Amino acid sequence: MTNTATVSFIKCESYTSDLQSAIEELIDGIGGISNFVESGQSVLLKPNMLTTRTPEQATTTHPEIIRAVIRIVKAQGATVSVGDSPANITKIAELWDTTGIKQVCNEENVPLLNFENAGSETLSIYGVQVGIAKPVLDADVIINLPKVKTHVLTTYTGAVKNLYGTIPGFQKTMLHKMFPKPNIFGEFIAALYDEICPQLSIADGIIGMDGDGPSGGRPFKLNFMAASADSAALDASICHLLKIDVNAVGYLKTIGNEQMGIIAKNNINIVGTPIEELTPIGFDVPSTLRARMIPGWIVKLIDPFLWIRPSFDDKCVFCGKCVKACPVNALTIKKGEKPILEPQSCIGCCCCHEICPEHAIIMEQSPLLKFSGKIS
Ligand code: SF4
Ligand code: SF4
Repeated sequence: MTNTATVSFIKCESYTSDLQSAIEELIDGIGGISNFVESGQSVLLKPNMLTTRTPEQATTTHPEIIRAVIRIVKAQGATVSVGDSPANITKIAELWDTTGIKQVCNEENVPLLNFENAGSETLSIYGVQVGIAKPVLDADVIINLPKVKTHVLTTYTGAVKNLYGTIPGFQKTMLHKMFPKPNIFGEFIAALYDEICPQLSIADGIIGMDGDGPSGGRPFKLNFMAASADSAALDASICHLLKIDVNAVGYLKTIGNEQMGIIAKNNINIVGTPIEELTPIGFDVPSTLRARMIPGWIVKLIDPFLWIRPSFDDKCVFCGKCVKACPVNALTIKKGEKPILEPQSCIGCCCCHEICPEHAIIMEQSPLLKFSGKIS
């Protein structure tokens, strides 16, 4: 591993600008596309397709960024496909339509792959047998296209966390069950990154998400894109820009501690637009972040009184998707009624919150957790 990494930033205020030129300039900052893609190679684009949302809801990678990258890669003489395994896999056709990604793939004449039925190969990751979608393992080059968002469980989600979508099906839910705490889940994500390391990551931060992301926050205009060959350095430099402590992001903390990647500000060379010119005003971290700020020895003492659990507001349409997504069966539902939570079973993983199509789930904090937030 080298001791430094380079991350390229560019100011970009809308998806209607000339994204292809902007992304070409962005990639030129790290050596140009020929540094990553050669003629004749197969290239997989891995956007964030988390759940069924429109591009304006800023939950998924914007389709116009995918279009621009498809054109750049095709111009290199490579073949392109696009794929992801979202949290919401039960109605994938609806998700593809709503996110606008299917339309772009059709118009650009590239295959949109359903990782749920594309086959998988089992790898041993963090001591667990994990199926990874075959298109990910078969591609000559992976170009990772994350969305810049906060995350109630991992604090921030970007390039490294986006690799969770290389795991097809409900395995993702079961892994949340196996690794319910943010730091342990972060260690798993870091181990996944060690196995599946994209050659290039390009982050969609034109409109990101703040607050209680990755699906329940608010769209936030950040006006930038960023790219790097080093996904961890890319995430870390965006955290520096957003004033998020990298040690509050479990996977970045592990990557830094285990020297699996570069996260220290002094070791990251920023090219293009300086991040000081891109720092937003009023960007909000997840409300759950304060739980991560409490020292570990105190957490052990007061653990039963520190919890994060879902509650359900009147936007609920009783669809039951959250019930199916819960890895520990902590939720039940009766026809025409809101879900009911068995609090003792809940591990606070936020899977229900991620999947709710109506933004009807609020992750409530225990009184002690709220109090700790007031004094921290
Ligand atoms: S909370 Fe959301 S996911 Fe759960 S039943 Fe209601 S609308 Fe569906
Ligand atoms: S109820 Fe929600 S937060 Fe609690 S374990 Fe189930 S999916 Fe996770």
